[in-house]
Amino acid sequence: MNGEICSVCGGDGRYANSFGRVASCPGCHGSGKRPEAGAAVRDVTKTKPSHYKTAASSAVKQTWPSSLEGTQLATDVRDSGLVNADTKARLIAEIIDHENTHGRCTQTFLKKIRKQVKPGASSPKPG
Ligand SMILES: [Zn+2]
Repeated sequence: MNGEICSVCGGDGRYANSFGRVASCPGCHGSGKRPEAGAAVRDVTKTKPSHYKTAASSAVKQTWPSSLEGTQLATDVRDSGLVNADTKARLIAEIIDHENTHGRCTQTFLKKIRKQVKPGASSPKPG
C-alpha cells in the first residue's frame, strides 16, 4: 500500500526546517511512513472523579412524638420557660426515642420529663 507514506516529508523521513537543516521528520520520526492514526490520536477522555455520596437513605428524622401522651409531653416541654432550646430539643428527642423503644410513654417517663420542665407541681423539694 502506498497510502502509508508520510505527508509531511513525502516518504523521505527527513524534514528540512526553516534554517535549512535537515532533521528527522516530525511527522514520521524519520520512518517515512505515515503514523498510524490510532497511535497519533490520543485518547484524552477525561475521567472525572465522581463523588458519589452514599446518600443516607435513613427514614425521615422524627421531630415530634406520635403518641398522645408523647405529644402532650412534648408540648409541655416546648412551652416550658424553664429550659433552653437545646434542652427542649434533647427532651423531645428523648420522648420520641422512648416511644420508639417502649411503644408508648410510660407514666414514669412522663413524670420524669415533666419534672424537668414543670418542677414543683408534684415533687416538693425536701427541706
Ligand atoms: Zn515524515
